[in-house]
Amino acid sequence: MFTLVELPYAMEALEPVISAQTLSFHHGKHLQAYVDNLNKLASPPSPSPVGEGSNGELGVLKELMLHSEGAIFNNAGQILNHELYFTQFKPAGEGVQGPTGALAAQIEKQWGSVETFKAEFEAKGVGLFGSGWVWLSADKDGSLVITQEQGASNPVVKGLKPLLTFDVWEHAYYLDYQNRRAAHLSALWQIIDWSVIAARYDK
Ligand code: MN
Repeated sequence: MFTLVELPYAMEALEPVISAQTLSFHHGKHLQAYVDNLNKLASPPSPSPVGEGSNGELGVLKELMLHSEGAIFNNAGQILNHELYFTQFKPAGEGVQGPTGALAAQIEKQWGSVETFKAEFEAKGVGLFGSGWVWLSADKDGSLVITQEQGASNPVVKGLKPLLTFDVWEHAYYLDYQNRRAAHLSALWQIIDWSVIAARYDK
């Protein structure tokens, strides 16, 4: 069985950036539906490596994406995307962080400043037509790349290592921001846990 990843914070912890109502629907209804769908469509290998958001489950989901299409690809992709999305946040009350260490150095090398990087990342999110995801990923040499992924796709299908993502499906923000996608994306930096992103980069 694929399982619903547990949120590593309280339902109200991301307010006012993401309301408890949005988070409750997004995690408890939308992501739960993708998990339920995939469990009807595919079985993880046995003995199951599946843990709650463990590398075991993430690895299985990546393999499914590389070797499937249609409904299995879409539901596996949405579970992988949302597990990486929900586990990159920290409570809003903890204050705003920025990137550190090797990741910060690489961002500065490629974009000149964190602010320039953020502006490009937000613009790629605003400019993505329809439903999808904007990602920061690393290639095999450690260079960073921002990609737009349509629908349920994930940079793993391009051979990249996904680090950071903004969900630009309307279900991610419509209750709180309605049509103001740009305002939502701009606010998300307040709750990014850069220690998680740096750990994904270093791994
Ligand atoms: Mn979503």
